[in-house]
Amino acid sequence: MSGQPPHPALLIPGPIEFDDAVLQSMSHYSESHVGQPFVNTFGEVLSMLRKLFQTSDPASQPFVISGSGTLGWDQVAANLVEPGDEALVLHTGYFADSFADCLETYGVKATQLKAPIGDRPQLDEVEKALNEKMYKLLTVTHVDTSTGVLSEIKALSELVQRVSPDTLLIVDGVCSVGCEEIKFDDWKLDVVLTASQKAIGCPAGLSILMVSGRAIETFKARKTRPTSYFGSWKNWLPIMQNYEGKKASYFATPSPQLIRALHTSLTQILSRPLDQRFAEHKAASQKIKKAVIDLGLKQLASKPENQANGMTAIYLPEGITPPDILPSLMKKGVIFAGGLHKDIAAKYIRLGHMGVSVTDPTRPDIDKAIKVLKEGLTEVGYKA
Ligand SMILES: *Cc1c(COP(=O)(O)O)cnc(C)c1O
Repeated sequence: MSGQPPHPALLIPGPIEFDDAVLQSMSHYSESHVGQPFVNTFGEVLSMLRKLFQTSDPASQPFVISGSGTLGWDQVAANLVEPGDEALVLHTGYFADSFADCLETYGVKATQLKAPIGDRPQLDEVEKALNEKMYKLLTVTHVDTSTGVLSEIKALSELVQRVSPDTLLIVDGVCSVGCEEIKFDDWKLDVVLTASQKAIGCPAGLSILMVSGRAIETFKARKTRPTSYFGSWKNWLPIMQNYEGKKASYFATPSPQLIRALHTSLTQILSRPLDQRFAEHKAASQKIKKAVIDLGLKQLASKPENQANGMTAIYLPEGITPPDILPSLMKKGVIFAGGLHKDIAAKYIRLGHMGVSVTDPTRPDIDKAIKVLKEGLTEVGYKA
């Protein structure tokens, strides 16, 4: 049982519920960011990330930098592309619009390949786009948190290697790392970026990336300087290498307390087989998706193969909007999120099912969410 004060279960697609031990790690006494105990902890965090992303290639490079998931987009835009370069952005919802906007901020030309809401661009469309132009990079949102659409990364990677092998494959895994299978080496990915507060289950404040050796070479071959100062890998690469080698060094002060919390959550995650973790997320997701069908409701992601395992986006019955129901769901003990996709935000709600809410058998969160949703809908007059 959690020792936290009673509170409604936070089942939005991040931040998620946190384990007691992770929260307790945050109350570590103040320590120097260049002292050996902290340097050792940071180094272990970087080594554990290699396991989480399933990479054993020594050329791969993990980065952990203070910031939120969004800083991962800035790092990609500032380090891997130069002004005037072309990027292809696969659109499955809100987060692709933002990634494209971020790339444009750095002078990169972002072309979006869009799919109808709830779907994803098909591989033949991606192939056609890649044949038309040389794109320096292609970005894909593994799970689009605005729609609950899951992208198929392995098949996409095989396509990119066949059609446009020089294009770097960038995966926005903010809502997937820790709850969806990702094999960084096997799938030949170039960047997977994420944040601490989603399926990794650590408070918000850390931008986490895994970068391939090939992407690091691309960075080193830049003709122009990185277009960010704080986010520049020129500044961070030696720091990350030193930390992993348990050597103190300084560019900008990291947050020792957050790194300690991340160390605890990664230790917990890696104490059990990753496949088991992914299977548990899938099982919880199936349970929720079945309940949604039984209630006579529809998901934004209509095709089963497009449905994320760590969250569900659910259309509300005709005439009911998120403000009609979210407060009563919260009173009953579960915080759901409203819609985020700008065209249909008033028509749906979102439920996150990641981390300890899924993996800790002492937490009733998933069953409670289903029960509360049923009751809340009945109260506003809906009959399944
Ligand atoms: C949450 C999220 C982001 C942004 O992360 P922040 O931590 O809010 O900056 C980016 N991409 C996806 C897919 C997300 O779910």
